Amino acid sequence: MSQTQLQRRRRGLLLVISSPSGAGKTTLSRRLLQDEEDLVMSISVTTRNPRPGEQDGKDYFFVSREQFQEMRAGDQLLEWAEVFENFYGTPRGLVERALARGRDVLFDIDWQGSRQLEMTSADDLVRIFLLPPSLGDLATRLRSRAGDPEEVITHRMNRAAAEIQHWAEYDYVIVNDDLETAFRELKAILHAERLKRRRQVWLNGHVESLIRPRS
Ligand code: ADP
Ligand code: 5GP
Repeated sequence: MSQTQLQRRRRGLLLVISSPSGAGKTTLSRRLLQDEEDLVMSISVTTRNPRPGEQDGKDYFFVSREQFQEMRAGDQLLEWAEVFENFYGTPRGLVERALARGRDVLFDIDWQGSRQLEMTSADDLVRIFLLPPSLGDLATRLRSRAGDPEEVITHRMNRAAAEIQHWAEYDYVIVNDDLETAFRELKAILHAERLKRRRQVWLNGHVESLIRPRS
């Protein structure tokens, strides 16, 4: 990192992606994390069972209901919600450490979590809602993912409308039709939000040096 980059301290942002299950949050998040070195994923705790291929500590921290309640009672969760009869929550520690280091944090959470972050971190929050191109595509994608039994897929389809109803609570909306286009749009949002004046805390000193140069 060059001296100039080191001096460009930014205030980290909280990038929330929500959507009905199967619209593409995980796929787009993984790609974004590969490309963006100053971005870290918030890894949630959940009481649901792992899907085939999911790893503890990477996709989620898989915990029992008792462990989840202990974390909640101990104020260790930044936000939490019950989704599809399971509990999900964001451990506080990772997020606070990343933001303190000027990193951005990516959240794959539902509308209930997004609302809670709005109450605690409104200035740092950027909310994106993903829509599928159609319900038919959503069903195909839920099946293509493999790992969920048919009754779970039906349940997720039945819950899609309830999640979609919250789309207007978000700052940006991306229709994930063509993956490459959606990915470009997602990156454009992150890059523009990083340039918001209030996030570029280093600018105060820089502008001062431009308008009052030391002789
Ligand atoms: P979510 O995390 O929102 O539940 P996923 O990212 O797991 O959704 O995506 C569900 C399935 O849809 C996956 O199999 C993924 O590969 C596929 N998928 C995601 N985006 C697209 C797209 N634009 N076109 C076709 N398939 C997609
Ligand atoms: P899945 O079981 O498909 O991984 O996730 C189901 C839903 O729970 C998704 O809408 C996902 O965004 C949401 N979710 C995952 N982790 C969290 C979390 O920590 N908090 C909240 N509020 N929602 C979460």
